[in-house]
Formats: sequence, structure tokens, C-alpha cells
Amino acid sequence: MKNETRVAVVGCGPAGLMAATVLSEAGLSVDLFDTKGSAGCKFLVAGRGGLNLTHSEHAESFVARYGNNAEIFKKFLADFSPDDLRAWLRRLGVETFVGTSGRVFPKDATARDILKIWIDALGKHGVVFHYHHRWQGFTKTGTPIFITKTGELLELPAKAVLLALGGASWPQTGSDGSWTSLLVTKGVHLEPFRPANCGLEVAWSEHFRSRFSGKPLKNILLRCDDQQATGDVVVTSHGLEGGPVYALSGVIRDLLKKTKPVPLFLDLKRDLSLERIQEKLEHPRGKESLANFLRKAIHLTGPAYSLLREICSSEELNSPEVLAEHIKNLPIPIINTRPLAEAISSAGGITFPEVDENLMLRKLPGVFVAGEMLDWEAPTGGYLLQGAFTTGYLAAQGLLKWLKLSIHPLPPHPSTQDN
Ligand SMILES: Cc1cc2nc3c(=O)[nH]c(=O)nc-3n(C[C@H](O)[C@H](O)[C@H](O)COP(=O)(O)OP(=O)(O)OC[C@H]3O[C@@H](n4cnc5c(N)ncnc54)[C@H](O)[C@@H]3O)c2cc1C
Repeated sequence: MKNETRVAVVGCGPAGLMAATVLSEAGLSVDLFDTKGSAGCKFLVAGRGGLNLTHSEHAESFVARYGNNAEIFKKFLADFSPDDLRAWLRRLGVETFVGTSGRVFPKDATARDILKIWIDALGKHGVVFHYHHRWQGFTKTGTPIFITKTGELLELPAKAVLLALGGASWPQTGSDGSWTSLLVTKGVHLEPFRPANCGLEVAWSEHFRSRFSGKPLKNILLRCDDQQATGDVVVTSHGLEGGPVYALSGVIRDLLKKTKPVPLFLDLKRDLSLERIQEKLEHPRGKESLANFLRKAIHLTGPAYSLLREICSSEELNSPEVLAEHIKNLPIPIINTRPLAEAISSAGGITFPEVDENLMLRKLPGVFVAGEMLDWEAPTGGYLLQGAFTTGYLAAQGLLKWLKLSIHPLPPHPSTQDN
């Protein structure tokens, strides 16, 4: 049964689409807006490198990934957990599987397939899509205003509004953070957007940059402050990229506010202890070049050897003891993070004290917020999409409560409801 209550959801990313799912399946008339010409542009980008939807790890470890907001996410995830997400996807017709790393991926579907099935399902529930509509703020009476590509203004008389406008990385996908001023003028406090899960900048010498950009450093351990990460790192013309770099980029970004450069310590030979390396390097080198000697003694080759040459002085290279220490703990001077526009996600946005437990803006009753526009961050590994899905789900439930409609539990998909 359709309820004639009309609501506007703005932003067709995972958070907005999840919110529209809950609201339309609860029977509301949902108008869904996006500034782009299609839905889920960033979701599609996320799908390019293998769509990591969530993670299978234990709830306690899972919530810890949200750092300072772990307690908040503990409550959120209790209402819409990774298992709930997988169950909902199954109802939608998308099976998932757990990879060897514990990460969860769609089984036989691409991000594009999922979007298509999802948008079709929303259409069947009467959701009206308005692409090329940029949210421009509210009228004096609180009606949301949109501007079309051709400059026409549209006011939508909605009973409530749910904003899911994303963060500020990859602005070409529509999440350009330009909405911030619209909420700041209403007195909403926001933390400035900062890059998260991003590359790091190093002032390489021209020689190193030109020879090693694009080359991998395999099986490295990275340390900074009290955090560490392992895996493959890629040398780029600007510095370093790769999973373990992204994992430490948040702590380095924060340290860079206090001091520059920040040393990022690399263990180039994880499989050998310092003592073992020292022992091997004690053997006389004779006339052999250092490169050959290190290759034969400890199998250190390619970019790893050249990185030592890039960072260490000749004295350090010629002292077996000091060289061994550098192989295990090479300080790379990080001068900056890569720009926000390139980052996988962003930190910053609407701070949690600005919203109530239903994700409604305290200063704008009837306006709910979800997804990356809220001030939280998490590493890669499925925690970002889970955060967007979960907050989209919760904000929609909050909106239903606020309208004094019964909350709608896990959104079932009609065609699979009886399976
Ligand atoms: C390269 C890359 C790879 C990633 N891989 C993964 C991954 O594997 N796993 C994972 O968990 N996460 C991944 N992410 C992160 C994930 O895609 C985001 O966290 C997620 O898309 C955020 O969802 P959202 O709904 O909050 O915002 P978004 O997906 O950014 O959607 C926001 C929407 O709001 C619209 N919008 C913005 N302003 C306005 C306005 N004023 N008016 C109307 N519409 C507006 C935008 O056009 C956009 O469609 C990746 C991101 C990138 C960039």
C-alpha cells in the first residue's frame, strides 16, 4: 500500500540508494535526486578493482576499524551488520563470497550488474529518479530546491529530506563536497574534508623517479607511530601508493599537521631478522659491487636496493651494521599526502554531535544525513561501503520514526521474499 507521504532522497550513491530502498519499501513516495546523469558513479569506480562490499571479520575487530567512532559504529552495525548487508544482497539476487583475506565480494555480478538490479527494484517500488538535479539548499519554509543542468529551479514539497551527498574525493563522480557551504550557513558544524586511504608524497631524486616509477616493492612491512601494515607498495613519480600505504595514510596525514617530513619506516626484508642480515653482511664483500653482494647474500634486488641507495649515505651503505639496520627500518621522509581528489575516501564532514541517534540534523529537524558526508573514516577492506550502506539504512529508519511511521526492518526484495 502506497502512503502518499512524499520524501526526497538526495544522492544516488550506496547510502542514498539504500535509504531509498528502505523508504520506498515502507510505502513512501520517494523522489531520488542526483547531480550526475546516472546513479552510483563512485560505486562503479569502486567496482573497477574488485568490489569489496564488506568484511567477514568478527564484530569486535570490525567496529575497531572505525577508529575514534568505533563506539558509534558499534551501535550502527548492531542495526545493520555485514551479515544483514549480505542477506539483503541475496534477496536482491546478488550472492557474495568471502575471499582468502576475509573480504566480501559479489560472486557473479559486477558493480554495474548490482546497480542495474537495484535501480530496477527501486523503479518497481515507484521511486522517481531525477538525474542532473543539483541540490541547492532550502527555501525559507524548508522545501528542498534543486537546479537542473539547464538552470531550471525545482522545489519539491517533501515531508522530510535525506541527504547522502558523499565525501569529497574523486569529485568527477559527483561527490565534490560543494554542499558543505549550504549546511554551514544553517549553522551545521563540519570538519574540513581531508584525504583518507591515499598515496603519500616523497621528494625522490630525478634519477630514482625516472627509473623506478611504477615498480613494486614486494612484501614490505611499513611502520609509522604505533601502526603497521604489510603488503606490496608501488613507487610512483610522486611517492608511494598501495594497500599498506593507504592503511597508514591517516596517521601520517595527522602527523604531518605537526611536523614535516614524517618518517615512514620500511622493512625491506620481512623474512630475515636483523641479526641474520647482520651476520650475512659481515662476510667480506671483496671486489663485488654492493648490488651483487646484497642480491647474493639476502636476495635484495631491483627497486629495494635502489631505494637504499636513494635514502642512505655512502657511509651508511659501507657499514654492514648500519646497512642491516636500514634494510630492516628504512626511514622514508613523507612530505605530504596526495591530494583529496585522488584519495579513495575522505575524512571530515558533518560531525556526530550535529546529528541525533536517528541521524537527523539537530539544527534542521526533518533533514537526515548518511554516508561519507558524515565525519568518519575507515580503511579499505569493505568498511567504507558497509559504513555507507549502514548509515543509509539507519537514516531512513530514523526518518520513518520521525514521520511516526512504523520502522521497516530489513528491506525484503519482492521476487525473492519467499526463498
Ligand atoms: C577508487 C575507489 C575505490 C573504492 N573501492 C572501495 C571498495 O572496494 N570497498 C569499499 O568499501 N569502498 C570503496 N570505495 C569507497 C566507496 O565507494 C565510498 O565510500 C562510497 O561510495 C560512499 O558512498 P556514499 O553514498 O556516502 O557517497 P557517494 O557514493 O560518493 O555518492 C554521493 C552521491 O551524491 C551526489 N551528490 C553530491 N552532491 C550533490 C548535490 N549537491 N546534489 C545532488 N547530488 C549530489 C553525487 O553525485 C553522488 O552520486 C572506493 C572509492 C574509490 C574512489
